[in-house]
Amino acid sequence: MIIISACLAGEKCRYTGDGFDFPELRKLVDDGKALPVCPEVLGGLPTPREPNEIVGGCGYDVLDGKARVLTSSGSDKTEEFIRGAGRVLHKALVNDVKTAILKERSPSCGSNVIYDGSFSGKKTPGCGCTAALLIRNGISVFSEENYMGNICLD
Ligand code: SF4
Repeated sequence: MIIISACLAGEKCRYTGDGFDFPELRKLVDDGKALPVCPEVLGGLPTPREPNEIVGGCGYDVLDGKARVLTSSGSDKTEEFIRGAGRVLHKALVNDVKTAILKERSPSCGSNVIYDGSFSGKKTPGCGCTAALLIRNGISVFSEENYMGNICLD
């Protein structure tokens, strides 16, 4: 079993209230090979919701209390992001998950690149809160942009 960002499998859980159309990733869920999770919804945030960005660091820094997750209007959602990451990790552990495919650039799910906290569209190297927690616990995290060739899905 792998974990996948629910929005990549078509669930309308994005902050905008929609999902993405990746038929090959949705099929993994339909075939029972992937468990769809949305850490922001699991953390208690509504859909749709204000955009969030990590301010002052990356997902590891949020987990370590050195950075915060804020909405574009300045509301602090750090607690919800950490709670959601923990709930995803719990699901991963009870399902013996070793690999995840998570949405790149998300403040929760990004694994290589995130937005820089300025809400100006600028990106920076780094990962989101959930990706950081999974990686710290030995789970391999890929994105929709680099999973092909790195994961055996048979
Ligand atoms: S938190 Fe992750 S799964 Fe949920 S909408 Fe954002 S990118 Fe998708």
